[in-house]
Amino acid sequence: MKQYDVIVVGAGPAGLCAAVAASRQGARVSLIERYGILGGNLTSGYVGPILGSVGKGTMRDEVCAILGVKENDWIGEQGNAHNFEQAKLSLAEWIASEKNIDIYLQTSIFDVLKNGNRVEGVMCASNEGPLYFKAPVVIDCTGDGIVAFLAGAEVEKGREDGLMQPVTLEFTIDGVDESRGLICIGDVDNVQLNGVRFLDWCKGMADKGKIPQKIAALRLHPCVEKGRRQVNTTQVNGVDITRIEQIFPADLELRQQIRLLTEFLRENVPGYENITCIGSGCTTGVRETRRVVGDYIIDADELANGCRFADVIVHKALFIVDIHNPEGAGQAEEKIQYCQPYDLPYRCFLPKGIEGLMVAGRCISGTHRAHASYRVMSICMAMGEAVGIAAAMSAQQSCTPRELDVTALQSLMSGIGIELFD
Ligand SMILES: Cc1cc2nc3c(=O)[nH]c(=O)nc-3n(C[C@H](O)[C@H](O)[C@H](O)COP(=O)(O)OP(=O)(O)OC[C@H]3O[C@@H](n4cnc5c(N)ncnc54)[C@H](O)[C@@H]3O)c2cc1C
Repeated sequence: MKQYDVIVVGAGPAGLCAAVAASRQGARVSLIERYGILGGNLTSGYVGPILGSVGKGTMRDEVCAILGVKENDWIGEQGNAHNFEQAKLSLAEWIASEKNIDIYLQTSIFDVLKNGNRVEGVMCASNEGPLYFKAPVVIDCTGDGIVAFLAGAEVEKGREDGLMQPVTLEFTIDGVDESRGLICIGDVDNVQLNGVRFLDWCKGMADKGKIPQKIAALRLHPCVEKGRRQVNTTQVNGVDITRIEQIFPADLELRQQIRLLTEFLRENVPGYENITCIGSGCTTGVRETRRVVGDYIIDADELANGCRFADVIVHKALFIVDIHNPEGAGQAEEKIQYCQPYDLPYRCFLPKGIEGLMVAGRCISGTHRAHASYRVMSICMAMGEAVGIAAAMSAQQSCTPRELDVTALQSLMSGIGIELFD
């Protein structure tokens, strides 16, 4: 039995920031990650560029600086995808420099320790066999809300018909001739090829049978290294990655799409004649699974209106409602929903009816449409940082996260320079 002040499960953008933030408040932290590297989608998922923006002074800026990418390019117009190989080391060095964090890699949580409705720890499968971790506060940063699910929290998945955004495997290509090779950041982009909007040209190529219809929206992001593109285009629809038997068939199809797309780009897109695929995610990229129902469920109208909350802990979050079509290519909605910089309230991070547990990252409490905005990595990092501070305070004050005085949390956050109010 290992005892800590705060347990963070999942070392993606949210989990890393949660662990560092809690540690900087003096909490003894365990950071538990099922893979052999830290970073979640920042490394093993091969996801970039870091999109979205948040108010000033968050750990998001620190991470971006570590990864050598531009700050606050919320939609990716000038956003360069970071170098994933370098990120594996730089993020590890960053975490290793924190005194209070014990890191458990290749350790996967499989159950929770519970007393009534209070989570008191987690059980993990490790190379040593089962490991038990206890702490007054556990933070679920698994993306899939696994801890909350195991704790019996109420969860939701997908839109009304249950369909979720498609799974994707991002990959990086090298060898693009920058003088001719276009960039396309997605449906907000009107870049042209031969006088036609590139994304319409892609649809035309699908109509001719050159690529499957469902991957006819080629997103080609620039990278920090010239001559590279981050390709966010493969997709399989109708997959629920929380269903274990659905993972391998999806992953196989995605890897076959990488081969097909690399050949297609080489043969059809000027400047891409000499490209090679130099890397891809080591795990299927999951945009959407469980959303943990919390004390408050935020919706997309609130994001569109730039809502403000008295219990704000993430301020001025900004990204579009980016719903990749659960049924086909491109976006699910014809008109892209833009948002005003919005707040996320503390209550979205508290699973309803469960004590001792907080969530951060893409599994927080919101609707399917709201999730499509706040799921981007800048916002997930700011969430993790805020929740990490809250967890450390709860542990120090021997109160549950729900009992924590949010005003005291806000004043501590403001004191370390995190912008929370207009
Ligand atoms: C294909 C794709 C493209 C995207 N494009 C962009 C983009 O361009 N820009 C952007 O900003 N965002 C993008 N996103 C969204 C963004 O990457 C995610 O929403 C974000 O990474 C979520 O952060 P997180 O920390 O909540 O989860 P994750 O990054 O998923 O991290 C969760 C971590 O928890 C670990 N974990 C899970 N289960 C367990 C367990 N049982 N035990 C221990 N550890 C566990 C995982 O291994 C992982 O390391 C994209 C997502 C996908 C899938």
